[in-house]
Amino acid sequence: MSDILIIGGGFAGVWSALAAARLRDEHGADLTITMVTPGDDLVIRPRLYEADPAALRVPLERILHPVGVNRLPGIATAIDGEHRSVAVTHGDGRTERLGYRRLILASGSALRRPDLPGGEHLFDVDTLARAVALDSHLRALPARPEGSGRFTAVVVGAGFTGLEVATELVGRLRALAGPAAHEVRVVLVERAAMLGPELGPGPRPVISAALEELGIEVRLDSSVASLDATHVHLTDGTELSAHTAVWTAGMAASALTRHIPGSHDGLGRLRVDRHLRVPESPEVFAAGDTAAAMADSDHPTLQSCQYAIPLGRYAGHNAAADLLGRPSLAFAPQPYVTCLDLGAAGAILTTGWERSVKLTGDRAKDLKRTIVEERIYPPLDDVTELLNAGDPKRLWT
Ligand SMILES: Cc1cc2nc3c(=O)[nH]c(=O)nc-3n(C[C@H](O)[C@H](O)[C@H](O)COP(=O)(O)OP(=O)(O)OC[C@H]3O[C@@H](n4cnc5c(N)ncnc54)[C@H](O)[C@@H]3O)c2cc1C
Repeated sequence: MSDILIIGGGFAGVWSALAAARLRDEHGADLTITMVTPGDDLVIRPRLYEADPAALRVPLERILHPVGVNRLPGIATAIDGEHRSVAVTHGDGRTERLGYRRLILASGSALRRPDLPGGEHLFDVDTLARAVALDSHLRALPARPEGSGRFTAVVVGAGFTGLEVATELVGRLRALAGPAAHEVRVVLVERAAMLGPELGPGPRPVISAALEELGIEVRLDSSVASLDATHVHLTDGTELSAHTAVWTAGMAASALTRHIPGSHDGLGRLRVDRHLRVPESPEVFAAGDTAAAMADSDHPTLQSCQYAIPLGRYAGHNAAADLLGRPSLAFAPQPYVTCLDLGAAGAILTTGWERSVKLTGDRAKDLKRTIVEERIYPPLDDVTELLNAGDPKRLWT
């Protein structure tokens, strides 16, 4: 039995553990906090489109151990709300049931891969393992026959992830191709009639200019119909000799959300109240990509680190507050911003839900680097810094 059981060791899980530990420490209380997660690391998922993804992780032990949070390696396979227990399957196939008084569901989201002929040849950057598989594939391309389409990549989906993958791939492929850089070709395929359909019109001119600068070909109103290891067939009938195809379109909340009685949004996220509690299952809190919370009176949170970190802080705080008889806090995140990497063409920073462009080029790129290389990393080893990082009143980073 654990007083607070957290499922997931991503951004929401880590910051909820720190926040719960912080409130426990503040009250000198005796609460057990346990995190169930399959890996040993916090994976820096927003950077998985970069080269050398294997390095993009932080040992959970150096975050959880100093603040007295237990870690149970395993995968949560079932949640029994009636008996307040979670089935956890370990690497050796053994399954155990762990009871809880409060549950924080922070098991994230997963890319919805399409079911199309040759779909097994699609790469993606959704998990560390998949990003490492893409990286190994790219590194092997120079050994393939010249002029065969070895350095042609098709990126499917021109949303946030697709734009970052496509713009970064140009530089990665050119570096690998060396003197054969003229063979590099990146084709960005989007089903909608516009680039970045969910980004709105504000940033689109800057994004279009960046794609042009990098020589990325854009195919709108199109998608992948089928593929094999060296060719991609588009729905508009085009056949491309391309040895790499990366799928980026469509996310869904972790399937564990379906184990919790409650209301779900179109992404499969659990609708939570202002305190991040699932109204129909009051002992359950959701945070990060599993939670459909309101960021303000009109806008639901987006599946992003920008929200996963504060959602984690509030969920952890409120779960502990509930058990300690302390007041719970209404979720109050910082105003919404978007910072999109555009590879060698810089980056773009927008503010507000209408996404007004505030910074572009090198200045936006510096900010993007500060966010993803510093601000979204938790402190390590230092108890005081770790507990402070769990304070819900801190800025999101
Ligand atoms: C390529 C890419 C680029 C991105 N770029 C940005 C960006 O620029 N800015 C931004 O804000 N966001 C970005 N995001 C989104 C961001 O990474 C996610 O919104 C964020 O990681 C969500 O945090 P989370 O803790 O909810 O989920 P995750 O970080 O996915 O963590 C989920 C955790 O739960 C664990 N887990 C899953 N299932 C189980 C289970 N059954 N049992 C136990 N543990 C389980 C996983 O192993 C993992 O540890 C990007 C994502 C990708 C893939």
